[in-house]
Parts: sequence; structure tokens; C-alpha cells
Amino acid sequence: MMNSSMTEVTPIRAFEDNYIWCIRQGKRCAVVDPGDAKPVLAFLQQHQLTLTDILITHHHDDHIGGLSSLKDKFPDAVVYAANRERISHVDHCLSEGDKITLDGLSLQFEVFDVPGHTRDHIAFFGSVGLFCGDTLFSAGCGRLFEGSAEQMFGSLQKLAKLPANTKVYCAHEYTLANLRFASEVEPGNHQLRDYVSQAKQIRIKDQPTLPSTIARELSINPFLRCDQPEVLQRVAQHAGKVLHGEKDTFAALRSWKDQF
Ligand SMILES: [Zn+2]
Repeated sequence: MMNSSMTEVTPIRAFEDNYIWCIRQGKRCAVVDPGDAKPVLAFLQQHQLTLTDILITHHHDDHIGGLSSLKDKFPDAVVYAANRERISHVDHCLSEGDKITLDGLSLQFEVFDVPGHTRDHIAFFGSVGLFCGDTLFSAGCGRLFEGSAEQMFGSLQKLAKLPANTKVYCAHEYTLANLRFASEVEPGNHQLRDYVSQAKQIRIKDQPTLPSTIARELSINPFLRCDQPEVLQRVAQHAGKVLHGEKDTFAALRSWKDQF
């Protein structure tokens, strides 16, 4: 039996800035949010891997576009997602509190409902880390396409309570753009400033800034820091009105980012 210490997680790049995470144990693997089959199939071929499981966080095309082709090549691959209406090939329909053991890998995940970006977005949390799709990004969070600011706030708070050393595997490389906004919101945050130079160095070498960790996000991500006086004050100043508490601040921060 393999254990999670023998698990390797690798980003497969897709489109402009998507990461399709490949979770691998020996010659078997799972992928998360395969928006495009081509780079996944190339990676599997290159490393002679068998695809046994597919995890889907939400229904957007850049997260599910490769499903059909991957199922053609690997018909036994088991598909986990939140809903069958908007996602094809789903074997296991999941929601908050579900615990899954992958079919092909010795890995367990707990499922969280994290509405906000879409109304039925889910996240997968296990010993390897958190796969959070377009909900939590490094130094940012997903846009509100279907959910309310209040829902997204609740979703992020849920993720923020995970162990500090949890690795955070986001679905996009948005870090530098997010950091530009974060620096505008919280110019006095030293850890943020340090991380900006670190992230720039990483991107100059064309390396991924991910995975992040919950600890890092708690210290630099303004969307997890709406309880900080500087964030509250800067957001209120930008919004030009008095804000009542964290949720209110979060909503105003999210709309600021939408126009940034
Ligand atoms: Zn999306």
C-alpha cells in the first residue's frame, strides 16, 4: 500500500494560466480540473501514467473541457464532482461533509461546499493538501459569478480554518496580479512586501508560485484579512462609506478588486 508521503503533486499547465494538478502515486494518478485533455495526455504519456481518478471543483469550461477525451482514453477513470446537470461523466456526486477514498490511489479527501464563484463549487481537502479550484487564489479569491459576497466570505472562512501548513493548490497562476492589488489594499503589510519580491523572482524563472499554504494566505491575502484595521480602513476609504464589520468589508473589497 502506498501512503501519502509517496504522493507527488505536479502542475500541468493549460491555456494561459490554468494549472491542472496531477496527483501521482507510482504509475497511477488523479488529475484535478482537466480543462484541456491535450497537455494532460502528453504528461501521462511522458511519465507512463494511468489515470484512475478525476476531481472536478466546478463546471466552468476551463476546468472540465478535457473530461470527454480523458474518459475516451481512460474509461475506468472515476469522476468526482458536485453535480450531474452541468458536468458530464460524473460517477460520484459530492457535497459538504462527504469523505472519499480515491479508486486508484490510496488517498482520502474531505469535501467542502464553497459557493461564491459558482453556486455549486466544491473543494477537496486531504493529507496532500487543498484543491480549491477558483475559490481561493494566492493573494486573491475567485470572482463572484453566481454566488453572493456573503457566500464567498463564508467559503473562504471555512478554508482559512484548515491547518496552517495545508498546501493550497489553486487552479490559476494569478499571484502577481493579485499581489499588485493586495499591496494597494495593505501597503503596511511587511510579509506581503517580502512575498511580492519572492513571487517576482519565481515568475521570472517561469516557475509556479503554487502551491501556497494556509499560513501564507492568512498573512498576505486581503480577502482573508478583512478583520485587520489597515484593510478595513483602506477599503472603507476606497468605498467612501462606513463599513460594518468583516462581511461588509469583504463585499466592498471584492467590488474594488472587480474594478481594479
Ligand atoms: Zn471558474
